[in-house]
Amino acid sequence: MSFPIAKLSFWGVRGSTPTVDPATWRYGGNTPCLELIAPDGTQFILDCGTGLRMLGSRWVGPNGSRTAETHILVTHYHWDHIQGLPFFAPLYVENNEFHFYSFRSKFLGRDSLKQVFEAQMALPYFPVDLSAMSAKRTFRELAGGESFAIRDSKITARWLNHPQGSLGYRFETPAGTIVYATDNEPGNPELDKSLRELAEGADILINDAQYTPEQLATTRRGWGHSSWLEGVRLAREAGVKTLVLFHHDPDSTDRMVDNLLRQARDQFESVFAASEGMVMSLDGKSHVDIHLPGTRTALRREAQFRALVSGTTADGQRFEEETVVRDLSLQGALIVLNHSPKLQSELQVTMETPGDEGVRSMRLRGYVVRIENDKEKGHSSVGVVFTD
Ligand SMILES: [Zn+2]
Ligand SMILES: [Zn+2]
Repeated sequence: MSFPIAKLSFWGVRGSTPTVDPATWRYGGNTPCLELIAPDGTQFILDCGTGLRMLGSRWVGPNGSRTAETHILVTHYHWDHIQGLPFFAPLYVENNEFHFYSFRSKFLGRDSLKQVFEAQMALPYFPVDLSAMSAKRTFRELAGGESFAIRDSKITARWLNHPQGSLGYRFETPAGTIVYATDNEPGNPELDKSLRELAEGADILINDAQYTPEQLATTRRGWGHSSWLEGVRLAREAGVKTLVLFHHDPDSTDRMVDNLLRQARDQFESVFAASEGMVMSLDGKSHVDIHLPGTRTALRREAQFRALVSGTTADGQRFEEETVVRDLSLQGALIVLNHSPKLQSELQVTMETPGDEGVRSMRLRGYVVRIENDKEKGHSSVGVVFTD
């Protein structure tokens, strides 16, 4: 028996401005861009931050779809949500067809998104003329509040609370419901209620988590963003199954995002922090499968170290076990465990390292980036990145 599958890929997860600081490398530095492939093959792109360039360079197009069209939904016109557009190679290919959706900005007037293209590629800001973009483009203005269908998916757009406005989107597909609500500050009762309705019963809620709850209450109030705590509250109230912390602050290092995620996990069962290259699959039964990309973390060297590992399993149990580390680099290790730790959780790894003065033990803090379960042998290969 087969179930419909929706595939959600994170190409950019950073808010405000891209980062190239190595301390932000694990979660990634590209600004917002998500790709959703619905079970019927329809390709949706959510926001056009710098992550869009990466998506363009690995372009396979809307395969499996009945037509070679892509639907691009833009939340608003702040730089971090549109700056990838001129660098999206598929826009320069004649046979491609893109349908854009966004709202009429009172600052831009009619055809706001079309004007964004023209402005971004105007002299002297960009070397290539707009006429070089030979893909077919159509633009649809959304009023905020409406629902419409694109093949088998129903899409709803709602206003969020953000300077100059922003739209949240809900996608109801045969495989489940995904809600994308970034660039939103809680505190406006009417818009908070609207967002709760938008998020109602979602399988996956991608929520703005740029600031800490303390920042949101003080220095960052009025800046148009939210926190992991507000995300957890919203997820609880709306009966969301899985929450994804998104739009990480450019000043948040990987360790800081780890901390926000840990706090959120203390209060809500299923939370993940969006990271570049992460892919979530929905199977129509509210089950979410998550993969983090191997290429960002696979730096290995064969080794044989005895090690003691402690951590938390996917169902929240603490464990401790002895094992052998077979694969080691300065960045991370591949460890075979009988337990299956939770993805994006912390592991303590104490290794015995033989040296001139006998065996010494080395204690490292790791972060789980990959789990491959070998059901036959009853163990898991766990990819760990060392974080200190
Ligand atoms: Zn933003
Ligand atoms: Zn914004």
